[in-house]
Formats: sequence, C-alpha cells, structure tokens
Amino acid sequence: MHLHFDNRLLAELPGDPLTGPHVRQVQGALWSSVTPTAVRAPRVLAWSREVADQLGLTAPDIDDPQFAQVFGGNGLLRGMAPYATNYGGHQFGNWAGQLGDGRAISLGEVIAADGSRQELQLKGAGPTPYSRFADGRAVLRSSIREFLCSEAMAHLGVPTTRALCLLGTGEDVVRDMFYDGHAAPEPGAVVCRVAPSFLRFGHFELPASRGDTALLRQLVDFTISRDFPHLDGPVSEARDAAWFAEVCTRTATLMAHWMRVGFVHGVMNTDNLSITGLTIDYGPYGWIDDFDLDWTPNTTDAQGRRYRFGWQPQVAFWNLSRLAGALSPLFTDAAPLQAALQGYADAYAAADKINTAAKLGLAECRAEDLSLMADLRNLLRAAEVDMALFFRGLGEDPPGAEALDALHDAFYDDAKYHAHADAFRQWLQRYALRCAQDGDESARRARMRAANPRYVLRNYLAQEAIDRAHAGDLGGVHDLLEVLRRPYDDQPGREGFARKRPDWARTKAGCSMLSCSS
Ligand code: AMP
Ligand code: MG
Repeated sequence: MHLHFDNRLLAELPGDPLTGPHVRQVQGALWSSVTPTAVRAPRVLAWSREVADQLGLTAPDIDDPQFAQVFGGNGLLRGMAPYATNYGGHQFGNWAGQLGDGRAISLGEVIAADGSRQELQLKGAGPTPYSRFADGRAVLRSSIREFLCSEAMAHLGVPTTRALCLLGTGEDVVRDMFYDGHAAPEPGAVVCRVAPSFLRFGHFELPASRGDTALLRQLVDFTISRDFPHLDGPVSEARDAAWFAEVCTRTATLMAHWMRVGFVHGVMNTDNLSITGLTIDYGPYGWIDDFDLDWTPNTTDAQGRRYRFGWQPQVAFWNLSRLAGALSPLFTDAAPLQAALQGYADAYAAADKINTAAKLGLAECRAEDLSLMADLRNLLRAAEVDMALFFRGLGEDPPGAEALDALHDAFYDDAKYHAHADAFRQWLQRYALRCAQDGDESARRARMRAANPRYVLRNYLAQEAIDRAHAGDLGGVHDLLEVLRRPYDDQPGREGFARKRPDWARTKAGCSMLSCSS
C-alpha cells in the first residue's frame, strides 16, 4: 500500500505543545497530536471503489491485513502524523466555545493518484483532547449511515466529504440511543473520511472568540493558500473579501443541491459547515419522503425545528453571518463582508431558479415558473406526496391532467389523493401549457432525469441495511452502495430501492426521526 503524505496543515499552522488525549482547552493552536486508540479486531465491512481509485489503492491493498489495522487505528503508515483539530461553534444558535475533533483523528494529507490533495480522517478512532465528556467512538449504525450517505451524495453530484471505508472494531460502544436512561452496548465502527479539507466555520470562530487575531490571520492565509489556491496572493482585504465571497457562493450552491435532492442535514451548527462548501458530518440527517418543508429528522430539533428542510438556506445564511462576524477583525470596513452575504442571497436565488427549471424540465426559469413551483410545493405538502417519486414520475409521461394517474403511487394517503386530485389536474394542465412553450419533449425528459434522482438513501433503506448488519449480514450495505452509484439511472431489477417509505417505517426510530446519539 503506497500513499504519499504531505501534511501541510501540521507544517504550516501552530500546534498544541502538549500531546496525548487528556481533555483540555487548547489556546493558540489549531491542532493537537494524538494517536488513534487501538481496537480489538478491526475488519473491513465495506469500502468505496471510487475513493480507493482516487487515492491509488487497489482491491489487494484493501484485502491486505495491514489495511484493516491502519484504518481501524491500530497502526500508522510511513508519513502519517495523526492529529485532532481545534474548533468552536454555534450549536442550535448558541455559542458553545471550544468543541474540536472529539472523535475524529486525521492521519495526514495524501497526494492522490489524480494529483489532488486528500486528507484522511478516521471517525470513531478514540479519545482526543477535544472529546470533552465523551468516548471518541462511533457506533456501527451511525457509521453505516455516514459511509453510505457520503458516497450517495457524491454520486448525486452534491459536494461532500467522501468515505474510503467502513470498519468494524470488534468492540462494543455504549450508547443511550433515545436519551431515556437506557444505555446499551452496540457494535463499534470506524469510518475513514476523505476530503481536501475538513476545515469548518467553527475553526475560524474559535480564535476570533478568544481575540486571537494573529491565529485567525494565519488560518485564513493557510486556507486560501491550500484550499482556494486560485485566490492566493499577497495578504490584502480585497483577497480576503474575495475568499469570503466564494465561501458564501459555495455554501449557496450546496444548499441548492440539498433542496434539489431532498437532503436534510439535521445539525447545521457552525461547527458542521465546511469552509469549502462540502456536506460534512453525517449525523441525524434524513431524506425527504413525503414532501414537507417543515420536517426535521433530528429528535433534538423536534421542538424548535431550526434545522428543518425548508429552512436550511436561511440557517446557512445565519451561519455565514456568524462567520462574517468572526472574520471582521481582519477587515477595516464591514462593507465587503456585507456584500458577500448579499452575494449569498443572490447566488441562492439564482441556484433556486436553476433547480426550478431543472426539476420541472424547463429550458429556463421565468418569474412565473417560480410560482408554478411554489404552487406545486404547496400541493405536494397538503396531499402528502413523495418528493422523489413525484418529480421523477412527472418527467416520465407527457405533461397534462391525464398524467396524474401514473403519479398515484407517489401519494401516501388515498383519501388525500382524492381530496387533491382536481387541484393536481389543474396544476398539471398549467404545467403542460408551460412545457408546450418550450416545445422539446425529449429535452424536458432528459433535463428531469438529470435533476431528479430515481434512487436516494431513504431513511428506511438505511435502517434496513443497519438491521441486517446488526445480524451479521453486510449485504444490505453493499447493495445500497451499489444502487446509489447511479442514482439518476433506472436500474432494472432494483425497483425496490426506489419505492416510497412503507407504512411500518412511518414512525419507526431511524426511519422517521433520529437521535444525535451515535
Ligand atoms: P456533532 O454534533 O456530531 O457535530 O458533534 C459536536 C461535538 O461533539 C464535536 O466536537 C464532536 O467531536 C463531539 N462529539 C460527538 N460525539 C462524540 C464522541 N462520541 N466522543 C467524543 N466527542 C464527540
Ligand atoms: Mg460535528
């Protein structure tokens, strides 16, 4: 197994003089050296061909017993220099102080086969100085969810951290899944995440909160140089402003993707937003089954619904505003930061128009098309209609009132179907008129097939794979990984993976709501 490491973050940013995992406040440093804690019996449960390929790893490399040892946290390869990074964050709207990588340990930055720089990070590899009150471990169920969803998102074309592999540790981890005082042992696991950068908004907020402008300055310079090289150059407010503006537009693009595919992150705290605009930290996320802008998958969020589906673009803006506040000591004038935030709103509005056109198969989005979409959303919500099935189905048949029959399967409730059928037929007629203005039916279908996935990682599908894995059968994980490789293709024989949420899953834990306990 040959991996070439070049650990820029360690070389260029100040580290903690103390080593080892004892819990502490770390001042003036962006990282702490810490070694993964060995596990009893690391075993590869699943791995991603595409990520392995990118890193230049082959199937024999994965099968080599050394692989499970290294990626389970029991050994290091030459050039690896493990560390946990230091960040803070706003959690559910409140400043939480120092958080940091409590259960993530980076192994180093690889120069991949394609020339790109990729940081390898183990999640669940044991305690770090940032573990606070917790154990630094992760359970199998949440690790399966992170592994599968990272890869599913990448195949959907959504910016995301990737996952190289999922390992069982051969050890149990104790979790109180429902926070009801019933802690129980569960199988432990480690995921190796891969991304050019794991830097979060919270990395910038922490030094700013401590008045450490020198460290903030160093971090911004480093981030621009390593992660935004096209903006690199002598330090200037103009350069920094261009960088923050790009963070804003990347975040807008990301939000538009989430809204397009029906992904709800569930914990959009500022420590869970990537500075490079990737989806990061798959926890109690969920996928929209019946279209509901007010749905949140996270039980901890059930009251306030801060992180509900339809609110994600607004929360991202709020998070960017916190980031702007953190960066303000580097600016003599707030105007460029304000302009960049306005740029977020403009970029999101533009992306939303692109989504609207693409999801409806239109050549372009006109002002009245936004109301066409808004009216459809209201109908989908009122009639409890499956998002993925409806949009995919809408692109299959010629538009018109008659198309409703073929869309019947997307409805969860027959009574609601009948109650709203006339309204849907009227909407479909309006839609047909609009499509007639474009004219090209095959172009409409092609656009819709490219924007509306056939297969998404529905919550119940992930949960079924998890239940099988708990019974010792990884087949469900492998099947899902395979089907989600081509989410926009109809895959004959795999219709079952495109089915709407079955009734039994409506209120089942893991299928409807998820706790943060992972
Ligand atoms: P999250 O809500 O998963 O983004 O985590 C918030 C913070 O809690 C981060 O600093 C995590 O590293 C930390 N954390 C979450 N779970 C654990 C765990 N099992 N052990 C140590 N730290 C954890
Ligand atoms: Mg997190």
